[in-house]
Parts: sequence; structure tokens; C-alpha cells
Amino acid sequence: MNWISLVRTVTGASIIVVAVAVAAAAQQPQQGVAVARAGSKLPDPAKAGFADKLFRIDCGRSLANDESVWTPGANVGRSIQFSSTCWLMKHGNDWLLWDTGVPESAHNDPKGWSTLPKLIVYHLDKTLTDQFAEIGLKPDDIGRVAVSHTHGDHIGNMALFPRATVLIQRAEYNWIHSGNGPSDNINQLMALARKLMGTPKKLDLLDGDTDVFGDGSVTLFATPGHTPGSQSLLVHLKNSGFIILSGDVVHLEENFEKDIVPALNTDKAASIASMEKVKKMIATYKASFFINHDKEQADKLKLIPAFYD
Ligand SMILES: [Zn+2]
Repeated sequence: MNWISLVRTVTGASIIVVAVAVAAAAQQPQQGVAVARAGSKLPDPAKAGFADKLFRIDCGRSLANDESVWTPGANVGRSIQFSSTCWLMKHGNDWLLWDTGVPESAHNDPKGWSTLPKLIVYHLDKTLTDQFAEIGLKPDDIGRVAVSHTHGDHIGNMALFPRATVLIQRAEYNWIHSGNGPSDNINQLMALARKLMGTPKKLDLLDGDTDVFGDGSVTLFATPGHTPGSQSLLVHLKNSGFIILSGDVVHLEENFEKDIVPALNTDKAASIASMEKVKKMIATYKASFFINHDKEQADKLKLIPAFYD
């Protein structure tokens, strides 16, 4: 429960909260259609509704030539492999996709694709479209695309979903449209992000923790630090219970255990606070925690057409 929802519950001052949400919606950028929200919160674990199915999609793999970028002070010059993972959720008749992965144009290209060519190269063995087809879906069937953050390996295929509503933290969207900072690497990532994001027709800019379907089954929650508007996802399933999808709040299990922050993150203190937030949520919801880029972990999880329910 966040502070605003706590205040609302205690005082019953829901009219004020609605007024604030409408005022915030009025300030949104002109691009796309903004969706006003009456409030947002983390679900009560005892009352949360359920999503029906959760599918893992192979959205690429990468090879980086210096692990120490993710583990400052250790593993200098050692190469490391990462997974890139997208997740597809079914809720009633609605489909929500979490991240869109490495661009399909990289499919089977032996040279691969890169966001920062001196550091990391991505490969795509299977396209999103082909993996959707395994369960009879097409990209147009996806009503919502939620993005953890705007690095290219997470938003590489936004162009496949022109009809979907894009759910992104307002802080993230504003950040990529702000001026350059001191880090060339980060400026380069922001420029690529603007290109890959394009101008979504239906854009839902979120301010913190957000209950997507209004029943506590799928919650996007703010985990800033890797980028200014990074978010993670909490999903509730009947048989599997609560599962947290990391986004890039952390890349490796060991980093999570030891609060180690990658050098490319935009805010170290916020990154640690976000990892601590996730740890508390894992305890509150007795949740499983799936780490997007941890290849060793991802390789052991079910892959579409298999699913969690
Ligand atoms: Zn990433």
C-alpha cells in the first residue's frame, strides 16, 4: 500500500484523490490518448484477483565483454551471457505483454544487434511473432504492452503493436524526452529509446504503483534507479501464487542478495531502495521472483507454449 492509498483509506477523501488524478492527466504530453486513473495501489494479498495464464517468451540473449559494468569492482574483463525475457499474460479476454525484447530485425543475424556496440551484442533466435503463433495469437491481439523501461533490449518491437495501449511510468517517458546528461553511454541509450518508442497512439503514463485490471491481479510498481522511471510487475495466479517480474531492478541473483548496483544505472541510492522494496514485497506476497536477464535462472523456467497458471 502506498502513502496516497493509505491516506485515502484512512480519511475516505477519495474526491481529492480523483481531482489530483484528473489534474495530472491534463498535464500529460499531447502524444496519444491519456487514461485518467482514480488512484493506484499495491493489492491486499488476501483479496487480490487472478490472471489466468503467464507465458515466458524468449526475447533474445546477449554477450557482454565486461561483467564489471554490472558488478562494479569485480569481474573486470570477464564476459557474461544474459537472457532477454518477455512475459505474456492472459486476463479474461485481455492479453498484456511485458516488454518487447530485441528487435525482430536481428533474427538469425550472425552479427547480432547492439545498444552499446563496444560493450554488448544481442542475438535473437526466435521472433515474438512466431512465438505468439505457437498459441494462435497475432500481435494485433495484444491490447496492452507494459514496458519495464526504455532500454532497447526491452522496447525493440514496439512497432509491432500500433493498436495496443502502452503502459509506461511518466518519469520514464519524460526522461527520454529530456536533454542529454554527462554520460555518453546513457545519452546514446536515450536516443535509441526515442527511436524505438516512436509516438504510441494510446499512451497510458503511470505515476507509481498501478493496478492494471482493477482487481489486484496484475500490478505495475515503480522501481526507479536503473532508469528514472523503471518499473516491475506483480502478477497473481491461482496455482502459482504471486510472481514478481523484475524488469531491470536487478540483473543477477547475487547483485540482489548484496545490493550491488550496475555502473550504468542512473541513480545508485534509488536502485538500492528499489531492491529493498522488492525484497519486502517478496516477503509480503510470498512471491517468486523472476529475474529478466539472469540467464541461468531464465533457462530453467517454462517457455511458451507452456505456461504458469
Ligand atoms: Zn535490460
